[in-house]
Amino acid sequence: MNDFIQPDVNFSFLTFLYTNTCNAQCSHCCLSCGPDKNDKLSPEFLIENLSSFPGLNIGEFCITGGEPFLFLEEIEEILSFANSLGLKSYIGTNGFWGVSYSKAYNVLRKLYLSGLKVLLLSTDKYHQEFVSVDKIYNIVRAAEDIGIAVKITVNMTGKETENLLLIEKFNDFKCLISFKEPKLMGRARKNVNKEDLITVIPGDRASYWDINEKNIHAVCNQVKAPLITPDKRVWICCGIPANKYYYTNFNLNPLVLGNMNEKSLAAILKENEDNPMLKILISKGPVGLVRILEKVTGEKYNFRDKYYWACDLCCDILGNNRHVKQIELKGFF
Ligand code: SF4
Ligand code: SF4
Repeated sequence: MNDFIQPDVNFSFLTFLYTNTCNAQCSHCCLSCGPDKNDKLSPEFLIENLSSFPGLNIGEFCITGGEPFLFLEEIEEILSFANSLGLKSYIGTNGFWGVSYSKAYNVLRKLYLSGLKVLLLSTDKYHQEFVSVDKIYNIVRAAEDIGIAVKITVNMTGKETENLLLIEKFNDFKCLISFKEPKLMGRARKNVNKEDLITVIPGDRASYWDINEKNIHAVCNQVKAPLITPDKRVWICCGIPANKYYYTNFNLNPLVLGNMNEKSLAAILKENEDNPMLKILISKGPVGLVRILEKVTGEKYNFRDKYYWACDLCCDILGNNRHVKQIELKGFF
């Protein structure tokens, strides 16, 4: 098992899922956020925890949701505090507030003075049912005039081309634009046609993910950037809380690093620096979990016919209580 020995995990970034309340109710939302949800962290909670970041060597964090701009005054207070500690802050938003250039400018100018460095926006056919692309345009223009970096994520299946025309609007800006296929989690599970997804990996190639250098998803660096949900649990990645099974089976769940109702963030991160599961995911990706399972059971792993992303494989193993117990018994988790 020596091939799985890796250096300790260096947690470098933290995301706060500030709320699952959202003005929108996008049909692809993997966290199933919407106006009917009302779980939320508080500014006091963030401020208390941000103050531990310098001691933990964490210099960057993101506030996302749901829609954090529904709580703008709280966000300003949090960012100002983070700024006083020299932390780099990111915020994710659907941009509903960008009703005009001057409104966007005024909102962003205050956040910029409070230390906002990077704004993460989304626009695509799912978001546009609730937020027009014109609002995103106002926001990008204002952000770039002020000096805030912008990244726009466009969710689209490989079979949709209408979004490509849509983003021509942003050709004259410096903002980064990335295209992503929706993940089949949360509401997307019901509403996105999986036959439209083109990032399909046949099961017979899945076993080679760990040796295919071109496949950047083969190893998982996401685990260095844990996520805190409104119930104050710390997760190893943001995709997983989307899955109702994981969310409700806390005690079975190796993807939860700890519960901040019971322990401090510092204690949870410290305890997980040498978490073997995280080390395996960082060094080998989900296929590393397969290899361990095969070693401890002596049986060949039965891959699916196809995978839509590497996380499918991770979820299949870590969401299977029998597999987790088999690996745990051998002292791996
Ligand atoms: S995808 Fe974003 S904007 Fe849409 S419902 Fe979910 S959190 Fe809200
Ligand atoms: S599901 Fe597994 S592979 Fe995917 S981001 Fe989370 S930890 Fe990484």
